[in-house]
Amino acid sequence: MPIRYSFVVPAYNEEENAPVLYAKIVQLMANIADDWELIYVNDGSRDNTLATLRNLAQKDKRVRYIDLSRNFGHQAALTAGLDASTGQAVISLDCDLQDPPELIAEMIQKWQQGYDIVYARRRKRQDNFLKKYTAIWYYRLLDRFAEIKIPRNVGDFRLVDRKVQDYLTQMKEKAIYLRGMVAWLGFKTTYVEFDRPEREHGVPGYTWEKSIRLAMDGLLSFSLFPLKLGFVLGGFTIFIGFSFLTYMVFDTLTSNAEYELIKWLSVAIFMAMGLQFIFMWLLGEYVGRIYEDTKRRPIYVINEKINFETKNKNSENSSEEQ
Ligand code: UDP
Ligand code: MG
Repeated sequence: MPIRYSFVVPAYNEEENAPVLYAKIVQLMANIADDWELIYVNDGSRDNTLATLRNLAQKDKRVRYIDLSRNFGHQAALTAGLDASTGQAVISLDCDLQDPPELIAEMIQKWQQGYDIVYARRRKRQDNFLKKYTAIWYYRLLDRFAEIKIPRNVGDFRLVDRKVQDYLTQMKEKAIYLRGMVAWLGFKTTYVEFDRPEREHGVPGYTWEKSIRLAMDGLLSFSLFPLKLGFVLGGFTIFIGFSFLTYMVFDTLTSNAEYELIKWLSVAIFMAMGLQFIFMWLLGEYVGRIYEDTKRRPIYVINEKINFETKNKNSENSSEEQ
């Protein structure tokens, strides 16, 4: 029986939360559908998460799990689960119940109305002062420099249609920033809103170091701005050098002022530095192109193909098997 709904849950030290989440999903899906799978990805947990998952999977065949060989981090763990999912709608959520499963009914409704991507957007942040403000500034920066609009206050709690997931699976980039990749793909998108509650049990697996790395991945995978900085710096430095030079030449010619050699040299060095920045920018343009190419993102993304024969994935596969 083909599966209609996949839930994908990365779990790092979530022995207490995993069974609670399972119970909530069962309860939720009782009124919606029976053809679902719940995929946990054990991301190198140090507690009894694995044993807990094994237990759940034994009792209920709809529960599946992937056990990673070590801790690869949230984004990688989530990717492993998403790649293994088979549902027509794929819902990713955290294990710690900060992404309330109660919201999923609404997300499924939107999907049934024809939306391909349904994000759960946080209405307001309850994080501490520092986290809240770094997040606000980070999203501003991302908004300003990323080539595409990556929605703000949206984490990895979302529903995507199978066709979106198939493209995501194809995107083999190493610096994974899933929410950016999903936004990059396009498709018909909508939001449901929620207030993010506190974590149910355990401690956050996201350290500052991991958060900063994720932030860098987001910024660097979706913007080549840092590489273009040489252009701005070069232009600015040359402008300053040139202004001083003009002034000094003018001053020498009109008022017989004399400048020591060191001053002429300073100006010359300033302008040479500017030139170097400009060449660094040129290098950056090439490096940026190489970088874009190594990401191997698809050149285009198809929403629908109408009146094509055997373009349907299943029929393609079956004709190969014959
Ligand atoms: N997580 C993971 N690997 C990690 C860190 C976290 O799989 O190295 C999982 C974790 O179990 C949870 C989700 O990613 O399901 C979000 O983690 P966390 O609650 O620490 O993040 P926050 O809520 O602070 O964003
Ligand atoms: Mg959390």
